[in-house]
Amino acid sequence: MIEYPWKVFTKLASKFILCDGCFGRQFSLLAPGIDKWELGHSIKTALFLCALIQHEKNGKRGSFNLLKALAKSGFGPAIAYLRDRCGAVMEVEPCYICGTDIRQALEKTVVSVTERLKTVEVRTFKSGSSLSSSLIRREDEVKRTLKIPWGESIKNFINSYLDHEISKSLKISTDVDEPDVMFIVNPFNGDIKITLFPLYLRGRYRKLVKGISQTRKRGKDPLSSVEGMIASVLVPETGAADLTFHGAGREDVDALMLGNGRPFVIEVREPARRSLDLKALERKINEAFQGKIEILGLKYASKKDIRRVKILGERVNKVYRAVIKLGREISEEELRELQNRVNGLEINQKTPSRVLWRRGDRIRRKKIVSAKLNLVDKNTLSATLVAQGGTYIKEFVSGDSGRTTPSLSELLNTTAECVELEVIDFLGDL
Ligand SMILES: [Zn+2]
Repeated sequence: MIEYPWKVFTKLASKFILCDGCFGRQFSLLAPGIDKWELGHSIKTALFLCALIQHEKNGKRGSFNLLKALAKSGFGPAIAYLRDRCGAVMEVEPCYICGTDIRQALEKTVVSVTERLKTVEVRTFKSGSSLSSSLIRREDEVKRTLKIPWGESIKNFINSYLDHEISKSLKISTDVDEPDVMFIVNPFNGDIKITLFPLYLRGRYRKLVKGISQTRKRGKDPLSSVEGMIASVLVPETGAADLTFHGAGREDVDALMLGNGRPFVIEVREPARRSLDLKALERKINEAFQGKIEILGLKYASKKDIRRVKILGERVNKVYRAVIKLGREISEEELRELQNRVNGLEINQKTPSRVLWRRGDRIRRKKIVSAKLNLVDKNTLSATLVAQGGTYIKEFVSGDSGRTTPSLSELLNTTAECVELEVIDFLGDL
């Protein structure tokens, strides 16, 4: 028997009434592989045997006090011994730290969490605990008084217990970085806060007709947006609360999005189901909105992809096809000259006046990487433009009352208006 721990065992048992779990975890580091209740109970058993022998031998006062303390902490053999041999009936007192029996409290918590999570599909979780300040104070007092160097904090103890037991009961694993669900519990008052994290999906969309916005607009039919159409299928399929759509930039309501489509990330909020047949889902959306939108390459994604998709929208070049009405007729020669000037042209765009109400006013420097211009008739142009991500094409054409400069209108010294606009290719992917 090592003298030092034995002294601490005796002191702790005499000074504080602790349940087996709270007693055992004060010595976690001494015996890391042993269940803390078993450890607490075993130490109490050893203390009881020594006290009993001493008491039998010489009726030592100190031993009697230790026997009393053990009995008060609910240690059965001490209760029985004091009752049968000394005629002393001892009342069991609540644990000084946790106020109850920590094992029962934790077992109840595991049952409640398991019950609450039964109806949702989660694959990973993270657990935590929120304990009352008075409990933390009592825990600190025990630590401070006896300066036990082998203890495990109650929070750590609760969290590792929950990690272990919840993994077992729900057959899911822990993930501290990107869990499907997080719960914060207080096992001593029954509080359980559950946060279901979103499910992330990514893919590309094509928009085949005009009049469809990318995201839902207040007061407008949700099915007149790509987001709303996807939600109408995906929300019921996943049993989710709702979803949020994040596009790699956006095109105008009346511009088509063709080619291989524009990348997007979807954040499905509070989903009940996460294992999805993505191919079948994609088919279902495409069949429901045939001729309007088309979804391609639906895949699982992560939270990080939201940021990546936003950056992609800003950085990647897009290919546009535009039909442009001019305020005057131009010659083939002027057209060739215009094309030479537009190729590789750098422009300064102030936030367009039409979106100024929802975006900050700032100047963006953008580049028209290349341009191919053709005359449809003497004052109508057909243009294929490759432009840097985030370029406002309509404003590059019209000049937006001088807010974009130079513009086609400025270069030709006449009015110019984009009457048709299509994104025919998005030159990048996540
Ligand atoms: Zn306790």
